[in-house]
Amino acid sequence: MENIYESTRDPKQNATSKQAILNGIAPDGGLYVWPAIDTVDLDLNAIVEQSYIENAQYILEKILPDYTKEELEACVHNAYDKSFASNKITPVKKVGDLYVLELFHGPTSAFKDVALTLLPQLMSTALKSAGKKALILTATSGDTGKAAMSGFKDVDHIGIRVFYPHEKVSQIQYRQMATQEGNNVGVYAIEGNFDDAQSQVKQLFLDQELHQKAEEHDVLLTSANSINVGRLVPQIVYYFDAYKQLVQDGVIHLGEPVSFSVPTGNFGDVLAGYYAYLMGLPVERFYVASNSNKVLTDFLNTGVYDKNREFIQTISPSMDILVSSNLERLLFYMSGQDHQKVASWMKDLQEKGRYEVDAQTLQKIQALFSGDFVSDEQTKETIKDVYEKEGIVLDPHTAIGYRVASMTNSSTPIVTLATASPYKFSVDVLDALSKEASDEWDALKKLSAHCQDPIPVNLAQLESMDILHSGVISVEEMKEVVEKGLGEVR
Ligand SMILES: *Cc1c(COP(=O)(O)O)cnc(C)c1O
Repeated sequence: MENIYESTRDPKQNATSKQAILNGIAPDGGLYVWPAIDTVDLDLNAIVEQSYIENAQYILEKILPDYTKEELEACVHNAYDKSFASNKITPVKKVGDLYVLELFHGPTSAFKDVALTLLPQLMSTALKSAGKKALILTATSGDTGKAAMSGFKDVDHIGIRVFYPHEKVSQIQYRQMATQEGNNVGVYAIEGNFDDAQSQVKQLFLDQELHQKAEEHDVLLTSANSINVGRLVPQIVYYFDAYKQLVQDGVIHLGEPVSFSVPTGNFGDVLAGYYAYLMGLPVERFYVASNSNKVLTDFLNTGVYDKNREFIQTISPSMDILVSSNLERLLFYMSGQDHQKVASWMKDLQEKGRYEVDAQTLQKIQALFSGDFVSDEQTKETIKDVYEKEGIVLDPHTAIGYRVASMTNSSTPIVTLATASPYKFSVDVLDALSKEASDEWDALKKLSAHCQDPIPVNLAQLESMDILHSGVISVEEMKEVVEKGLGEVR
């Protein structure tokens, strides 16, 4: 099979789609991209007639060409047949003048379920072809960890270790992770923030000694973060599927453009939208919505990416990120696929915490992307306002995307991506609605009474579940955890 994927930093580091999914990150520290993704020919007429699952299969066949049709069919059905509480998988709803794409009906109530129900399937299939075992390392700002463990729990020949920032996730997110069952999972709070966890995981992937040990155990070390191609590609599907729903509902005619507003942290979700655009989806603009950690807003306005700034803990913790890894992939395409430029920007980021792109690259980015940010105060205002006017309760992340979309004066329909259920952040959501709660369980119940809507089952169960993982470790200790984990994959 052809090595159609290559590192953003060096075209010689290339791989098939199965290898890219197994490796996670390229050996030179770059991210795998498919340079010719814009040559994919998708038939929009077919897409608007097909179910979500049919579209997933149709799109993945194009972008993961070394999987057989039968393999992908099995992967997609295993992922989506039973685990989503909506038969549309990702339904679009009209809320005020905007459209909200609900991505949170999966097993852990966050949008990451859409990709993390499918990634274990894709990875198992690729492992079978390679005759290997794998240990997954995942840094999480709160949602990825749970969704990944839920997807990988008790999968044969795969182990998973998750690292999240101690006391910097919501109470519900903490409970979701600390109560996770499964023979092959391990979860650790680390002393530090998400960026510390993510950069250490990236370092571990490049650690030669660790790779040596992994080889001795016949285990591949890989990632379930959105740096993995297998995490990104399932997300492309819902951009097309949202478009389909707008056509079916008569909001647009086939071929007319739409815009998307995306609550953004690691830039994975919005990048999947850009991939959909490269594959022919008619998109006018992407709005990159941030919280007060507005490093992306500044970058999109000035071309300077500077993480040397205060890290702010907000009520949208899954977006409390200063290093947005997947921006590297956008830079690859927008610089005219200039590996050297990308490598030198990433070197600057590593060494100085800052880089500046050239005027031409910035201009190309600004032609399609705008950035804006929303404070906690404004986020709460939006939650309250939308509830009072529309009777819909948004979670804090979604509220940020919604507010950024509502501040534009675009006449093109805008779809805001709803990335989490409000129940995952019920204490802050209730506070936004000027209601008080004694603890997170009380908040869940009060929110449910308030919305007249049942608590998602996976969250309602948490209160009675035992805490199984309570370890807090330093960033330095992560390597030991991984070394030990290598011997435990069955
Ligand atoms: C992860 C996450 C985001 C950010 O998505 P990225 O792909 O990292 O940009 C936004 N909202 C929620 C609820 C999330 O879990």
